[in-house]
Amino acid sequence: MSDPAVDPCFDHQPALLSVEEAVAALLSEARPLADQERIPLMQAGGRVLAEELHSPIDVPGFDNSAMDGFALHSRDMQRALSDGLVIAQRIPAGSTGTELQAGTSARIFTGAPLPAGADTVVMQEFCRVEGERVNFEQAVTPGANIRPRGNDIKCGDTVLKSGTVLQAAHLGLAASVGVGAVSVYRRLKAAIFSTGDELIEPGQALAPGQIYNSNRYQLSALLKAQGCEVIDLGTIADDYETTRQTLLAAAEQADLVVTTGGVSVGEEDYIKTALQTVGELTLWRIRMKPGKPLAFGHIGAVPFIGLPGNPVSTFVTFVLFARPFMQFMQGRTQTTPPSWPVQAGFEYQSKQRREYLRVRLNHDPAGLPVAEPYPRQGSDVLSSVVWADGLVEIPEASRVSPGDTVRFLPFSEWAR
Ligand code: AMP
Ligand code: MG
Repeated sequence: MSDPAVDPCFDHQPALLSVEEAVAALLSEARPLADQERIPLMQAGGRVLAEELHSPIDVPGFDNSAMDGFALHSRDMQRALSDGLVIAQRIPAGSTGTELQAGTSARIFTGAPLPAGADTVVMQEFCRVEGERVNFEQAVTPGANIRPRGNDIKCGDTVLKSGTVLQAAHLGLAASVGVGAVSVYRRLKAAIFSTGDELIEPGQALAPGQIYNSNRYQLSALLKAQGCEVIDLGTIADDYETTRQTLLAAAEQADLVVTTGGVSVGEEDYIKTALQTVGELTLWRIRMKPGKPLAFGHIGAVPFIGLPGNPVSTFVTFVLFARPFMQFMQGRTQTTPPSWPVQAGFEYQSKQRREYLRVRLNHDPAGLPVAEPYPRQGSDVLSSVVWADGLVEIPEASRVSPGDTVRFLPFSEWAR
């Protein structure tokens, strides 16, 4: 391993940063995209809202029945129980009834407006219809089974905040207040390429010394899952001039350039030198495992993130660093990956670096989650990511014993 103090490849000594310091440094460089567009609500899934949405109406807009049943005034309840009530009208959802006269009831259906003069609905399971009359088998409390006007949302309420990623429930809520089109941030365009003479594409035959390019596929999918438009520039050779030209071409087309590999300090790692000639670079070494080196820089005004080449390192550094950076560029307000505490089901001793173990969650007899690590945690073992439910964070220089509480970062929420 190279030591920055003695390695001539480090012309400025990169600091060893904690994960938090690296995230903070990255986010301080992120600028949200300014461009917005107005699109139909049906096309807005996964996009980031660029405006605050207020409701122009009450929801529900009128008092309505929560049940199929009979509407009456609670004043008539005793009479209803002893003699039954005349069924004076029928109100299906979508229609409006007329004012309910004393001593009568209305056949009413879920979602139908409560007629004036009624204040209670008795569900049909407690009613017996005989000819023109309905008999009630059980008293209900006055006001029962009514959904009052404005129960969900009041006119003028803020229903969605700017920076929200529009998912199913958000779209449903926007529709419920009558919003048919929304302003969203433009999709982020991310240009990607992989570096490495050893890489070939899946589907081709391997020659000696070659490996398949897996990062290209996982990185592209990770970016698309973040709502990015991916400009895929493929794989390039370990060569200074090709690297330089590809960096320039990438920056011309994209809002952000993300690469994998070539950011260590080996002789075949050209990202660093090429980037220094077309822009500026900071090479960070982060106190974490997997994925110590991370390159960050600019080509003109376009930010550049260089992820390490080992596929597990690519995955983990993407999730911890590239993802929050992109989310900030997309105008999102929430960029911290969700996490929660779980019990460790294992023994572990970390060294000077923070470790991110790929773990699966099992359950103890009380049903509480217990993390079990994949047996091989090497940064080249991509099957560990497929096997696992998420990552467990082991702080620097820590001992973890079974039953200890550790922080779990679920893949389902933020990575896959
Ligand atoms: P590098 O960061 O270029 O030194 O690469 C570190 C390790 O990751 C080497 O074993 C590379 O062969 C491997 N690697 C780099 N890029 C990829 C890729 N796109 N797909 C699979 N493995 C890769
Ligand atoms: Mg390489």
